[in-house]
Amino acid sequence: MIGTLLLTLSLFSQTLDVPQLTTDPEVVGQGKTIALYLRFSQSLQKVEGFFLERIIPFYPIRRGSFDPEIRDPELVSGQGSGPSYTYRALIGIPIGTEPGSYSLRITLTRRENFNFQISDSIFQSSDSKILESSIEVVETPFEREKITIPRPKQNLLTSQALTEEAKIIGNILSKSRESQYWKGSFLQPIQGRISSPFGIYRIYNDGTASRPHRGVDIANLEGTPILAPNSGRVVLSRHLHFHGNTIIIDHGQGVYSLLNHLKRRFAHKGDRVKKGEKVGLVGETGLATGPHLHWGLSISEIRVDALEWTEREW
Ligand SMILES: [Zn+2]
Repeated sequence: MIGTLLLTLSLFSQTLDVPQLTTDPEVVGQGKTIALYLRFSQSLQKVEGFFLERIIPFYPIRRGSFDPEIRDPELVSGQGSGPSYTYRALIGIPIGTEPGSYSLRITLTRRENFNFQISDSIFQSSDSKILESSIEVVETPFEREKITIPRPKQNLLTSQALTEEAKIIGNILSKSRESQYWKGSFLQPIQGRISSPFGIYRIYNDGTASRPHRGVDIANLEGTPILAPNSGRVVLSRHLHFHGNTIIIDHGQGVYSLLNHLKRRFAHKGDRVKKGEKVGLVGETGLATGPHLHWGLSISEIRVDALEWTEREW
């Protein structure tokens, strides 16, 4: 479903001189992904959103770049009124976001030496224009489960390792490049039982509740081959105390797959991997109660439900 949002400049929406903003889907659930498409008659220097107190980068869709010399034929899709350019932002909705309507602000920056004149107020007095809109977040029903962590590994939860690992991973996930390495829908890296779905709240044996599960756990036999869910560059491949043997794949545009608890890692830092390529084997290294794969998907540092990306294309 594509929803058209009302822009403050909707008076001029019949011409492409006014940016057209659409979202897919129309409303978005907690822990899910929403894409914003901004279509405009001119190539822009920069498009940047601001949502839930975070900066949201927009990128030209498909390939190409903000360089006006690179014009992907797929970007030129004007409907009888000349060419248009489309910029896309992918937004992950944090699991804990309260349902409701949240404001969205998009700043469009035109090219400095750009020669265009339009009669309305866009770019009237400055090189930037701000569009105001909103996104509606709806509830996702997350499960709860009780788990018992084996004693020998329990001290990991309070150790410094967790903080240090979070820092290592966080540094990687904060980077975003314009290139899009993934193509089409994602593959589930292994088949098997979903032993712990995304967003589930865990209650530990001392009665305290954990934060929600930020990935999906898929259980299968130790040694089961793990496939790259989509193409990308391996940006981390190492052992971590809490996360176990870990591989992080950069799919571009701030989208990363995290694969944890591996028995073995075949892909190494710097490797280019293709969708479906074998990157490791299922194990139970780190904090794990049995052989399984924890698959996390991060979009601009927000963890989202990876399985949604196997069911549709972005
Ligand atoms: Zn997990």
